[in-house]
Amino acid sequence: MLRLQRDGLAKTAGSSAITVSHAGETLVVSLRRLSGARRFTLRVRFAARDAVLTMPARASLREAREFTERHAAWIAARLNRLPATIPFRHGAIVPMRGVDHALEHRPGARGTVWAEDCRGLRDVGDAPDGVDFVLCVAGAAEHVHRRVVDHFKREARRDLEQAVSRHTRVLGFPARSVGLRDTVSRWGSCSASGSLNFSWRLVMAPPFVLDYLAAHEVAHLKHLDHSERFWTLARRLCADTDRAEAWLSAHGAHLHKYGVAES
Ligand SMILES: [Zn+2]
Repeated sequence: MLRLQRDGLAKTAGSSAITVSHAGETLVVSLRRLSGARRFTLRVRFAARDAVLTMPARASLREAREFTERHAAWIAARLNRLPATIPFRHGAIVPMRGVDHALEHRPGARGTVWAEDCRGLRDVGDAPDGVDFVLCVAGAAEHVHRRVVDHFKREARRDLEQAVSRHTRVLGFPARSVGLRDTVSRWGSCSASGSLNFSWRLVMAPPFVLDYLAAHEVAHLKHLDHSERFWTLARRLCADTDRAEAWLSAHGAHLHKYGVAES
Protein backbone atom coordinates (compact mmCIF):
# COMPACT_ATOMS: atom_id res chain seq x y z
CA MET A 1 0.00 0.00 0.00
CA LEU A 2 2.76 2.38 0.95
CA ARG A 3 4.53 1.55 -2.25
CA LEU A 4 1.39 2.15 -4.24
CA GLN A 5 0.97 5.54 -2.64
CA ARG A 6 4.56 6.44 -3.22
CA ASP A 7 4.11 5.87 -6.93
CA GLY A 8 0.79 7.61 -6.94
CA LEU A 9 -0.95 4.52 -8.26
CA ALA A 10 -3.58 4.56 -5.49
CA LYS A 11 -7.00 5.66 -6.69
CA THR A 12 -8.55 8.69 -5.08
CA ALA A 13 -12.06 9.81 -5.88
CA GLY A 14 -12.12 13.45 -4.91
CA SER A 15 -10.85 15.36 -1.89
CA SER A 16 -11.67 18.40 0.25
CA ALA A 17 -10.91 19.62 3.75
CA ILE A 18 -12.62 20.33 7.06
CA THR A 19 -11.47 22.37 10.03
CA VAL A 20 -11.98 21.55 13.70
CA SER A 21 -10.98 23.47 16.82
CA HIS A 22 -8.93 22.03 19.60
CA ALA A 23 -7.61 23.94 22.64
CA GLY A 24 -7.75 27.23 20.75
CA GLU A 25 -6.01 25.81 17.69
CA THR A 26 -7.64 25.41 14.30
CA LEU A 27 -6.76 22.09 12.73
CA VAL A 28 -7.16 21.64 9.00
CA VAL A 29 -7.78 18.06 7.97
CA SER A 30 -7.75 17.03 4.32
CA LEU A 31 -10.41 14.54 3.35
CA ARG A 32 -9.64 11.79 0.95
CA ARG A 33 -12.46 9.60 -0.28
CA LEU A 34 -11.08 6.24 -1.24
CA SER A 35 -13.26 3.82 -3.15
CA GLY A 36 -11.75 0.82 -1.36
CA ALA A 37 -11.79 2.30 2.17
CA ARG A 38 -13.96 0.44 4.71
CA ARG A 39 -13.43 2.78 7.65
CA PHE A 40 -12.05 6.16 8.67
CA THR A 41 -8.27 6.38 8.97
CA LEU A 42 -6.42 9.44 10.25
CA ARG A 43 -2.78 10.11 9.66
CA VAL A 44 -0.46 13.05 10.16
CA ARG A 45 1.84 13.43 7.19
CA PHE A 46 5.40 14.21 8.14
CA ALA A 47 6.39 15.66 4.77
CA ALA A 48 3.30 17.75 4.06
CA ARG A 49 2.96 18.64 7.78
CA ASP A 50 -0.77 18.17 7.65
CA ALA A 51 -3.46 15.70 8.66
CA VAL A 52 -5.40 13.52 6.25
CA LEU A 53 -8.59 11.61 6.89
CA THR A 54 -9.17 8.71 4.54
CA MET A 55 -12.85 7.84 4.38
CA PRO A 56 -15.11 5.39 2.57
CA ALA A 57 -16.48 6.84 -0.65
CA ARG A 58 -20.07 6.78 0.66
CA ALA A 59 -19.45 8.17 4.17
CA SER A 60 -21.07 11.52 4.95
CA LEU A 61 -19.29 14.76 5.74
CA ARG A 62 -21.04 14.80 9.13
CA GLU A 63 -19.54 11.41 10.02
CA ALA A 64 -16.12 12.65 8.91
CA ARG A 65 -16.43 15.71 11.13
CA GLU A 66 -17.56 13.66 14.14
CA PHE A 67 -14.67 11.25 13.71
CA THR A 68 -12.19 14.11 13.35
CA GLU A 69 -13.53 15.92 16.43
CA ARG A 70 -13.19 12.76 18.51
CA HIS A 71 -9.52 12.55 17.52
CA ALA A 72 -8.66 16.27 17.55
CA ALA A 73 -6.36 15.96 20.58
CA TRP A 74 -4.40 13.17 18.87
CA ILE A 75 -4.03 15.22 15.66
CA ALA A 76 -2.87 18.32 17.57
CA ALA A 77 -0.33 16.31 19.56
CA ARG A 78 1.09 14.65 16.46
CA LEU A 79 1.34 17.93 14.54
CA ASN A 80 3.12 19.59 17.45
CA ARG A 81 5.64 16.77 17.61
CA LEU A 82 6.78 17.13 13.98
CA PRO A 83 10.49 17.96 13.75
CA ALA A 84 11.45 21.53 12.96
CA THR A 85 12.02 22.50 9.36
CA ILE A 86 15.49 23.51 8.22
CA PRO A 87 15.40 26.45 5.78
CA PHE A 88 18.21 26.84 3.27
CA ARG A 89 20.09 29.71 4.88
CA HIS A 90 23.47 30.51 6.38
CA GLY A 91 24.42 28.10 9.15
CA ALA A 92 22.02 25.30 8.23
CA ILE A 93 23.38 21.76 8.02
CA VAL A 94 21.99 20.07 4.91
CA PRO A 95 22.78 16.66 3.45
CA MET A 96 24.01 16.26 -0.09
CA ARG A 97 24.44 12.72 -1.44
CA GLY A 98 24.13 11.56 2.15
CA VAL A 99 26.93 13.77 3.47
CA ASP A 100 26.28 16.72 5.80
CA HIS A 101 27.25 20.14 4.43
CA ALA A 102 27.28 23.40 6.36
CA LEU A 103 25.54 26.07 4.33
CA GLU A 104 27.67 29.19 4.15
CA HIS A 105 26.50 32.43 2.61
CA ARG A 106 29.34 34.36 0.96
CA PRO A 107 27.72 37.53 -0.33
CA GLY A 108 30.88 38.97 -1.84
CA ALA A 109 32.07 35.85 -3.64
CA ARG A 110 31.87 35.18 -7.36
CA GLY A 111 29.86 32.27 -8.71
CA THR A 112 26.59 30.70 -7.52
CA VAL A 113 26.81 27.55 -5.37
CA TRP A 114 29.75 25.23 -4.84
CA ALA A 115 30.94 22.66 -2.30
CA GLU A 116 34.24 22.92 -0.44
CA ASP A 117 36.07 20.20 1.41
CA CYS A 118 37.19 21.70 4.72
CA ARG A 119 38.76 18.61 6.28
CA GLY A 120 42.19 20.15 5.81
CA LEU A 121 41.12 23.24 7.78
CA ARG A 122 40.64 21.37 11.08
CA ASP A 123 44.04 22.44 12.40
CA VAL A 124 43.49 26.12 11.83
CA GLY A 125 40.13 25.94 13.59
CA ASP A 126 38.25 27.32 10.61
CA ALA A 127 35.91 24.39 9.99
CA PRO A 128 32.32 24.16 11.24
CA ASP A 129 31.86 21.69 14.12
CA GLY A 130 31.56 18.08 13.03
CA VAL A 131 30.95 18.87 9.37
CA ASP A 132 33.58 18.14 6.74
CA PHE A 133 32.04 19.98 3.81
CA VAL A 134 30.74 23.47 3.22
CA LEU A 135 28.14 24.40 0.63
CA CYS A 136 28.99 27.97 -0.32
CA VAL A 137 26.35 30.29 -1.74
CA ALA A 138 27.26 33.60 -3.38
CA GLY A 139 24.97 36.56 -4.01
CA ALA A 140 22.35 38.42 -1.99
CA ALA A 141 20.79 36.83 1.11
CA GLU A 142 17.30 36.81 -0.39
CA HIS A 143 18.52 34.55 -3.20
CA VAL A 144 20.17 31.89 -1.02
CA HIS A 145 17.12 29.62 -0.87
CA ARG A 146 16.50 29.75 -4.63
CA ARG A 147 20.15 29.19 -5.45
CA VAL A 148 20.44 26.14 -3.21
CA VAL A 149 17.24 24.63 -4.65
CA ASP A 150 18.50 25.27 -8.19
CA HIS A 151 21.85 23.71 -7.32
CA PHE A 152 20.20 20.59 -5.85
CA LYS A 153 17.94 20.28 -8.89
CA ARG A 154 20.91 20.53 -11.24
CA GLU A 155 22.86 17.89 -9.32
CA ALA A 156 19.79 15.65 -8.96
CA ARG A 157 19.14 15.81 -12.70
CA ARG A 158 22.72 14.83 -13.47
CA ASP A 159 22.75 11.90 -11.03
CA LEU A 160 19.32 10.68 -12.10
CA GLU A 161 20.00 10.90 -15.84
CA GLN A 162 23.20 8.90 -15.36
CA ALA A 163 21.47 6.28 -13.20
CA VAL A 164 18.47 5.98 -15.53
CA SER A 165 20.62 5.50 -18.62
CA ARG A 166 22.73 2.90 -16.81
CA HIS A 167 19.60 0.91 -15.89
CA THR A 168 17.84 1.33 -19.25
CA ARG A 169 20.96 -0.06 -20.98
CA VAL A 170 20.43 -3.27 -19.00
CA LEU A 171 16.70 -3.19 -19.77
CA GLY A 172 17.34 -2.76 -23.49
CA PHE A 173 15.22 0.31 -24.22
CA PRO A 174 15.30 3.95 -23.10
CA ALA A 175 12.90 6.12 -21.07
CA ARG A 176 11.00 8.73 -23.05
CA SER A 177 12.15 11.49 -20.70
CA VAL A 178 13.52 12.17 -17.21
CA GLY A 179 11.99 15.05 -15.24
CA LEU A 180 12.11 16.51 -11.73
CA ARG A 181 9.26 17.29 -9.34
CA ASP A 182 8.88 18.37 -5.72
CA THR A 183 5.96 16.18 -4.72
CA VAL A 184 5.66 15.09 -1.11
CA SER A 185 3.68 11.94 -1.85
CA ARG A 186 6.12 10.11 -4.13
CA TRP A 187 9.81 9.83 -4.86
CA GLY A 188 9.40 8.79 -8.43
CA SER A 189 6.83 7.97 -11.04
CA CYS A 190 6.59 6.32 -14.43
CA SER A 191 3.86 7.23 -16.90
CA ALA A 192 2.27 4.80 -19.33
CA SER A 193 4.11 6.59 -22.14
CA GLY A 194 7.48 5.98 -20.47
CA SER A 195 8.20 9.40 -18.91
CA LEU A 196 10.02 9.17 -15.59
CA ASN A 197 9.77 11.83 -12.89
CA PHE A 198 11.69 12.07 -9.65
CA SER A 199 11.85 14.26 -6.58
CA TRP A 200 14.96 16.46 -6.70
CA ARG A 201 15.26 15.86 -2.94
CA LEU A 202 16.73 12.43 -3.68
CA VAL A 203 20.09 14.13 -4.27
CA MET A 204 20.19 14.71 -0.50
CA ALA A 205 19.92 10.95 0.17
CA PRO A 206 22.88 8.55 0.04
CA PRO A 207 23.69 7.66 -3.61
CA PHE A 208 22.46 4.04 -3.32
CA VAL A 209 18.97 5.39 -2.55
CA LEU A 210 18.85 7.60 -5.65
CA ASP A 211 20.22 4.73 -7.72
CA TYR A 212 17.51 2.42 -6.39
CA LEU A 213 14.72 4.90 -7.20
CA ALA A 214 16.06 5.20 -10.74
CA ALA A 215 16.10 1.38 -11.05
CA HIS A 216 12.59 1.17 -9.56
CA GLU A 217 11.09 3.56 -12.11
CA VAL A 218 13.09 2.01 -14.98
CA ALA A 219 11.64 -1.39 -13.97
CA HIS A 220 8.18 0.20 -14.35
CA LEU A 221 9.00 0.86 -18.03
CA LYS A 222 8.53 -2.89 -18.43
CA HIS A 223 6.02 -3.68 -15.66
CA LEU A 224 3.67 -0.84 -14.72
CA ASP A 225 2.64 -2.50 -11.45
CA HIS A 226 4.20 -3.96 -8.30
CA SER A 227 3.94 -7.61 -9.31
CA GLU A 228 6.49 -10.31 -8.51
CA ARG A 229 7.89 -9.89 -12.03
CA PHE A 230 8.37 -6.18 -11.34
CA TRP A 231 10.27 -6.77 -8.07
CA THR A 232 12.43 -9.44 -9.68
CA LEU A 233 13.45 -6.96 -12.37
CA ALA A 234 13.97 -4.11 -9.87
CA ARG A 235 16.26 -6.33 -7.77
CA ARG A 236 18.15 -7.42 -10.87
CA LEU A 237 18.75 -3.76 -11.82
CA CYS A 238 19.63 -2.70 -8.27
CA ALA A 239 21.16 -5.09 -5.76
CA ASP A 240 20.48 -2.52 -3.00
CA THR A 241 16.70 -2.60 -3.48
CA ASP A 242 15.82 -3.89 0.00
CA ARG A 243 18.42 -1.75 1.76
CA ALA A 244 17.19 1.36 -0.09
CA GLU A 245 13.53 0.59 0.69
CA ALA A 246 14.51 0.28 4.36
CA TRP A 247 16.42 3.58 4.24
CA LEU A 248 13.44 5.34 2.66
CA SER A 249 10.97 4.10 5.27
CA ALA A 250 13.31 5.07 8.09
CA HIS A 251 14.66 8.41 6.80
CA GLY A 252 12.87 9.36 3.59
CA ALA A 253 10.37 11.71 5.18
CA HIS A 254 13.20 13.69 6.79
CA LEU A 255 14.33 14.88 3.36
CA HIS A 256 11.18 17.00 3.25
CA LYS A 257 12.12 19.13 6.25
CA TYR A 258 14.93 20.84 4.34
CA GLY A 259 14.49 24.00 2.32
CA VAL A 260 10.97 24.63 3.54
CA ALA A 261 10.26 28.36 3.65
CA GLU A 262 9.58 29.66 7.16
CA SER A 263 5.95 30.52 7.81
ZN1 LIG B 1 6.64 1.60 -8.10
